[in-house]
Amino acid sequence: MKVAILSRNPRLYSTRRLKEAGEMLGHEVDVIDTMHCYMDITSSNPSVRYKGEALPRYDAVIPRIGASVTFYGTAVVRQFEMMGTYSINESVAINRSRDKLRSLQLLSRKGIGLPRTGFAHHPDKIDDLIKNVGGAPVVIKLLEGTQGIGVVLAETKKAAESIIEAFMGLKANILVQEYIEEAGGADIRCLVIGDKVVAAMKRQASEGEFRSNLHRGGTAEIVRLTPEERKTAVAAAKAMGLGMSGVDILRSDNGPLVMEVNSSPGLEGIETATGKDVAKMIFDHISKKAKPNSTRTRGKG
Ligand code: ADP
Ligand code: MG
Repeated sequence: MKVAILSRNPRLYSTRRLKEAGEMLGHEVDVIDTMHCYMDITSSNPSVRYKGEALPRYDAVIPRIGASVTFYGTAVVRQFEMMGTYSINESVAINRSRDKLRSLQLLSRKGIGLPRTGFAHHPDKIDDLIKNVGGAPVVIKLLEGTQGIGVVLAETKKAAESIIEAFMGLKANILVQEYIEEAGGADIRCLVIGDKVVAAMKRQASEGEFRSNLHRGGTAEIVRLTPEERKTAVAAAKAMGLGMSGVDILRSDNGPLVMEVNSSPGLEGIETATGKDVAKMIFDHISKKAKPNSTRTRGKG
């Protein structure tokens, strides 16, 4: 197969590993800088141009779209889709996953366990918003934050009110969530490919921190999932429509609760913690799903 990895940086661990794993399996793998792609949308023969030339037809693309470039990145992925190229994660699914509120609404519709979550635009009924998710302590999140930035724990009702007012004053979109204390500063990252959890790790927040993000100093170790956790992770990935994702779960007294679903999960943490070749498993999945596209003649897109 002819496969493109859409990534801004060929030196990133995930990008390097994907290229290496694909080539090891005998595929032709190009790393394409998403932000340097430009598109010809008007013609009847959609194409993606790169460095002054039309890119070849790929059989598959693996989008690794950073949160800061979602708008342009997903437009590039969409253009590949128009050319008949299989994308392991479709542009619309990536867009869904980037909005925490939209994601939670989709997951809730499928009956997937979630922390109680509230959302409001106006600050007039803040006390009710807090009461509705069970009262303080609560977690307050910026809708489009990543890597733990924009996630705040408010221990008291007063603190929660001030933080919510401050964010609303800045016109930031936030959600207010029940704090799952029994998770003990840990969460479970499930790497889901297709309808299988292929690797899972438990991330533990550093001392005095409740956010378990590895970017915030969390540590990771391999973990054994319960059948319920496995089922929940797969259902969450499916609800989002993602072929490959990182589903983050909190272990609560009421069973697994999904916190978020990431469409460009990093491979370094999970491969290191579990010793699994996740990059190869991604290519195995693509081989099964993608239909040959590169051999097709041009002009039929
Ligand atoms: P981000 O997208 O920035 O990673 P998350 O929603 O994943 O934001 O939150 C970051 C971390 O904060 C999580 O990995 C988890 O450890 C902790 N956390 C988030 N929400 C809750 C919650 N409701 N209860 C307990 N811990 C939480
Ligand atoms: Mg997270």
